[in-house]
Amino acid sequence: RTVYVNGDYLPEAEATVSIFDRGFLMADGVYEVTSVLGGKLIDFEGHAVRLQRSLDELDMVNPISKEDLLQVHRELVRVNEIDEGMVYLQITRGAPGDRDFVFPDPETTQPTIVLFTQNKPGLANSPAAKTGMKVISIDDIRWGRRDIKTVQLLYPSMGKMMAKKAGADDAWMIEDGFVTEGTSNNAYIVKGNKIITRALSNDILHGITRAAVLRFAQEAQMEVEERNFTIEEAKEADEAFITSASTFVMPVVEIDGVSLGEGAPGRVALRLREIYLEESLKTAV
Ligand code: PMP
Repeated sequence: RTVYVNGDYLPEAEATVSIFDRGFLMADGVYEVTSVLGGKLIDFEGHAVRLQRSLDELDMVNPISKEDLLQVHRELVRVNEIDEGMVYLQITRGAPGDRDFVFPDPETTQPTIVLFTQNKPGLANSPAAKTGMKVISIDDIRWGRRDIKTVQLLYPSMGKMMAKKAGADDAWMIEDGFVTEGTSNNAYIVKGNKIITRALSNDILHGITRAAVLRFAQEAQMEVEERNFTIEEAKEADEAFITSASTFVMPVVEIDGVSLGEGAPGRVALRLREIYLEESLKTAV
């Protein structure tokens, strides 16, 4: 596999980053994941805009223009022959000489930029979308700036392990009695024909897939309500689902061992998945 590091395309075995990089020492960095379908990038524009916002919020300098970033994404997709899969992008604050909590001077320390691809044949036709997924609920003990897409993923990773040990596929996180989001996705319930999802704030990541799905739902005359919901309300909902760049729209059929509706993927979730796959391809680049 060919990867990209600080301006160079290299075989992955030859790609290196300093041990002093603040991404490695302090999780001082941000990332984006963009899906590839039919060799094209889904929602590239949205990911590029959110990347800039994450960098701005952390006072990090963007080392690459949007045009060049698109070019690197496309080149990696091409050389690695990705038809279905994803492109991972990470920018960290770089490697000053010494470990120090204080941010280094951006004049002397360049950010580190890394991109690589992952091949995922069958991504659009995922069998998981046909069976639906099971989630458990866990406490949300993450920091207060979940709107910034940082590489601090230890708790989400622990959450997925808790789910795995419980025989489930993922975890939804709860704060002050309300569901915030999934470990790596936004969370939704459906009551009647109404789609309910938490409103945007610093408490959740502003999902690029979320924005697209809510727009498509409204265009299809489906009712959307952005508000908090509890896990109890979720267990009594007709349907539930998640969205993320790597799963698109994925139905949830069980929460903490309680089956939703018929215990099978819901009508609204499946319809939204279909619409998303169709519509997002129209703007793929
Ligand atoms: N919330 C969290 C915590 C996430 O990690 C992700 C995926 N990175 C999402 C939501 C979904 O965001 P997107 O649709 O942009 O992938």
